[in-house]
Amino acid sequence: MAESNVDTATAVADNAKVNLMGMSQARLEAFFETLGEKKFRAVQVLKWIHQLGVTDFNEMTNLSKSLREKLVANAEVVAPEVIQQFDSKDGTRKFLIRVGGDNAIETVYIPDGERGTLCVSSQVGCSLDCSFCATGKQGFNRDLTAAEIIGQVWQAAKSFGQLQANGPRKITNVVMMGMGEPLLNFDNVVDAMNLMMHDHCYGFSKRRVTLSTSGVVPALDRLAAVTDVSLAISLHASNDEIRNQLVPINKKYPIAMLLDSAQRYIEAMPDSHRKMTIEYTLIDKLNDRPEHARELVRLLDGIPVKINLIPFNPFSLSNYKRVSEGALRRFQTILLDAGYTATVRTTRGDDIDAACGQLAGQVNDRTRRSERYKLDTNALLRSSDDTIPVRLVN
Ligand code: SAH
Ligand code: SF4
Repeated sequence: MAESNVDTATAVADNAKVNLMGMSQARLEAFFETLGEKKFRAVQVLKWIHQLGVTDFNEMTNLSKSLREKLVANAEVVAPEVIQQFDSKDGTRKFLIRVGGDNAIETVYIPDGERGTLCVSSQVGCSLDCSFCATGKQGFNRDLTAAEIIGQVWQAAKSFGQLQANGPRKITNVVMMGMGEPLLNFDNVVDAMNLMMHDHCYGFSKRRVTLSTSGVVPALDRLAAVTDVSLAISLHASNDEIRNQLVPINKKYPIAMLLDSAQRYIEAMPDSHRKMTIEYTLIDKLNDRPEHARELVRLLDGIPVKINLIPFNPFSLSNYKRVSEGALRRFQTILLDAGYTATVRTTRGDDIDAACGQLAGQVNDRTRRSERYKLDTNALLRSSDDTIPVRLVN
């Protein structure tokens, strides 16, 4: 794995201290060896950081005093800073997180009964420019470091008091469905997901960590060798003609190629019962007709899938319209009648712009940004209920 995976931005800013926040066990072990220390220190430190939320080496009481001093001199544990937290009346919580300069990303927590799903970002913006996605419309800025990706989980878990012995297990699932295309930030995303599943960190099972991709086939072909997370494919269309319009990367890696690659990933998993999730965003009159549903039934025949229908969430830069309730139910019924599991993703956190495809954390204009922050802070102070009805980003 490339050395650039270390959080270099932070390291340079702070006398070349190494940030341990995003380091895998293997990288931490290598780091301790360079300090002349034993490898088992890595697991001790992983526990302090990711199970107990401790960032101050002096509080890591099972490390010797001399090791703590070495760590203070050479390393640090830094998560990206939460600029603001928004709580929706439906329990959804959105974090606006600073990742340097004018850049912010968004992380969303969605409670649903016993389950609490954290939707994590992988990049600042996205280069793939899907025509129905607010993140795509803002263009690509940069990849997040592994520290910034796992740091989102760390910050969210901390906000719920989860990072302590016997803390509440509010976050039970993680989906890489925030801003960015995770497979275009391969090494950092894999490192962060493996920390999510690490027994001495967050301990999520592989069924509860899901990578969602719009279809970067060469990277998907490499994934099974390094991780066994659950897979979601952002399909959104039943044929290449429509998908080319919605997901431009389809022109390079068309549907057949993508489904083949996804199937190889699933088949490489030791657990033979696993299914991939097919995400299908329904847009009024574009991909929501009964003939599209029937075409989808034929397309997915024989592939182990469950289908998640997502009503399109409108945003200002898009002319597409949300699917009608009637078309949504007709579409779902055709899939159900054909024997597929087909669920509808309910829109959550609408009042705080936290719904799918509404994440656009990049803030371009400093002045406008600080004005908005002031407005939002005032609104926060004024707010009498648990809803913050303000729009922070475009
Ligand atoms: N880049 C990855 C992961 C982030 S997008 C991917 O494309 O899969 C996460 C999910 O939100 C994708 O299924 C995406 O298609 C969907 N999405 C994006 N914009 C949306 C919108 N406006 N309404 C509903 N879903 C949207
Ligand atoms: Fe990028 Fe996914 Fe949005 Fe497409 S849907 S622009 S791949 S974040």
